[in-house]
Amino acid sequence: MAKNDYYATLGTARDASADDLKKAYRKQAMQFHPDRNPGDKAAEAKFKEVNEAYEVLKDEQKRAAYDRYGHAAFENGGAGAGGFDFSQAGGLGDIFDQMFGDFMGGRRGGGGGRATRVGGDIRANIEIDLTEAFFGTKATIKVQTRVNCDACDGTGSEGKDRAASDTCTTCGGMGKVRAQQGFFLVERSCPTCGGTGRVIRNPCRVCHGAATVPRERSLQITVPSGVEDGTRIRLTGEGEAAGAGGQAGDLYVHIAIRPHQIFQRDGATILCRVPLRISQAALGGEIEVPVIDGSRAKVKIPAGTQSGEQFRLRSKGFSVLRSAARGDMYIQVAVETPQHLTRRQRELLEEFEQEATQHAKGSPEAEGFFAKMKEFFDGKS
Ligand SMILES: [Zn+2]
Ligand SMILES: [Zn+2]
Repeated sequence: MAKNDYYATLGTARDASADDLKKAYRKQAMQFHPDRNPGDKAAEAKFKEVNEAYEVLKDEQKRAAYDRYGHAAFENGGAGAGGFDFSQAGGLGDIFDQMFGDFMGGRRGGGGGRATRVGGDIRANIEIDLTEAFFGTKATIKVQTRVNCDACDGTGSEGKDRAASDTCTTCGGMGKVRAQQGFFLVERSCPTCGGTGRVIRNPCRVCHGAATVPRERSLQITVPSGVEDGTRIRLTGEGEAAGAGGQAGDLYVHIAIRPHQIFQRDGATILCRVPLRISQAALGGEIEVPVIDGSRAKVKIPAGTQSGEQFRLRSKGFSVLRSAARGDMYIQVAVETPQHLTRRQRELLEEFEQEATQHAKGSPEAEGFFAKMKEFFDGKS
């Protein structure tokens, strides 16, 4: 069977650094991981291929041999002989540590194989007004979480004695178990001890040995000025507690910004549509417009302004995150046709209309249109 080039498999250049190889490998391995592609034989084959490629290229000597001789370097008793050896210790553990680290936010893993209990991450959503996003705000959120059990001081043990535990026999104290899942070894948190590596001899009556209890917590969060819709704020260690000596999870707060009734925001730019009477648009003048910071601004409208025209107000736009700068505001005018005319308005407009038909100059769009219409009826186009 012809083998694919190892570098092509990982999607890297032949002179890729060890770091680049590792990154490329992790990306590919995550994509084709069987947990993400259950029952997909093609993904499984690809995953195997990716692992084989990395197993060779991460080793300087094997890589040098491969660069020189290609796959032939391993044809007689090398890494490729008889299929890839997945039971090989070391490599696999690394892969899974890395992968689980990635899946869970990149901070797990702990040092040197000792089990560390890690609390779960929690997610909270808040909705704020556009003006709150402009000025920045403080918000109080309530989250359903787990906190360390008071009765046992987070030890999970009646009598608060952390030493009163035995090494978990399921995982041998590692906190993780490996299971053969078809072709692959899968590592996961030990179901017996919940990842602590220890089984409590005399569990706490309140938390039943869990070391944590469910509780609602109130938290105040600071939303910075200039925040975007969809921003996620991470509060490290404000997630679920993990018992004494454990590492609490994180709290992720997702911020949604309610649409505003006057302003539309695009990054640091604000757009505001302002209606204009036909007489204002024709005669010109000054209008007053609202600004997101609560102030008012004046805008000069030149005579003969068309509907849809925009006027820029420098630095009257949205706040820029982590900066004192502000974007611009654009006023887009919409010339509005009046309805429900008074008798006098009607008279004036009728007079205006009479004058306009005799004096068509000054309506550029109409002039252009009627010229084209004439050509159309004359058969020119
Ligand atoms: Zn265990
Ligand atoms: Zn307890």
